[in-house]
Amino acid sequence: MATWQCIKQCGACCHLDPAERPDLDEYLSPTELEVYLSMVGEEGWCVNFDHATRECRIYDHRPRFCRVEVEAFQDMYGIEPEELNEFAIDCCREQIEGVYGDRSLEMLRFDQAVGIGVK
Ligand code: SF4
Ligand code: SF4
Repeated sequence: MATWQCIKQCGACCHLDPAERPDLDEYLSPTELEVYLSMVGEEGWCVNFDHATRECRIYDHRPRFCRVEVEAFQDMYGIEPEELNEFAIDCCREQIEGVYGDRSLEMLRFDQAVGIGVK
């Protein structure tokens, strides 16, 4: 079975462009939405994303909506713990496809890391 993990040097989910996430107000609280929008920078990338290293500059203090955690996903998306793995994989693949493309190196690396066969 494929097992979700975050791969290094990706950062696709740090592309926050609200135009590509029209349902934000459905899963973020008003305060979180404010924080989210305040983080949107150039070309839709999070202002905390370091493009050179492709890492988060505030990783230990990143907001809840940046975290793949049981409680956060249950609360924000109504995802039960046993569904989290599959849901997180789908989310990552969707983000990676949108940002880098479905045949990108990032997608290949992600699929390989989580254990999905090449499609
Ligand atoms: S899209 Fe997924 S694999 Fe890529 S940085 Fe975000 S959580 Fe990690
Ligand atoms: S705060 Fe960090 S993890 Fe969250 S979107 Fe920005 S760079 Fe990515």
